[in-house]
Amino acid sequence: MIKAVLLDSDDTILDFQMAEHIALKKTLAQIGIEPTEENISLYSEINKRHWEMLERGELTRPQVLVRRFDRFFEALGVEGDSEATQASYNHNLGIGHYFIPGAVELLENLSRDYKLYMVTNGNESVQVPRLASAGIEHFFEEIFISQRIGCDKPKIEFFERCFEKMPHYEKDEMIIIGDSLTSDIKGGINAGIHTCWFNPRGKQGREDIVPEYVVGSLEEIPALLKSL
Ligand SMILES: [Mg+2]
Repeated sequence: MIKAVLLDSDDTILDFQMAEHIALKKTLAQIGIEPTEENISLYSEINKRHWEMLERGELTRPQVLVRRFDRFFEALGVEGDSEATQASYNHNLGIGHYFIPGAVELLENLSRDYKLYMVTNGNESVQVPRLASAGIEHFFEEIFISQRIGCDKPKIEFFERCFEKMPHYEKDEMIIIGDSLTSDIKGGINAGIHTCWFNPRGKQGREDIVPEYVVGSLEEIPALLKSL
């Protein structure tokens, strides 16, 4: 029986793609780069590659935050101040919050039957104001932000430090739910707990990281958890 649910934040509860899109548009306009769809998807691609390098331990978080803009400016062939751009992007990102459809209903529902813990690789200076503006902190027993913990999902150390701060649960009583195979599902596998992949866009799976359960919408989760 599941007792504790570890929930990812970005693109599981909060619509990070939307937040990123809006914050990036604002930031590009501020630094005089036209916020076209091409420029935004170029940035998104570069950004994704950099977070994957962090997950593989090839870059540190501060390196990711600045280097993604270095590479973005290089790709555009323009001179840019990556540090300053990162600072204004971070500010813009902390301002808005947008929910994944059904997220608030899910939190209301699950918080009646389970203890909820947020587990996020997000940046502390972005996550804290965004969660405050989203008004969902009260649903969670604890909010574990990797930057505060000192290491990131999917590292086993991240989960061990979370478990130290949680009451004791058997591994079998915990599940992680998230949209990322490489951080959430791999992390859950590393930690030895149940895993559920939130895959609303029907993305292709991976042979090397296989989730125990897959859902296409948040609405499916309460019934799934009851069945375990
Ligand atoms: Mg996520």
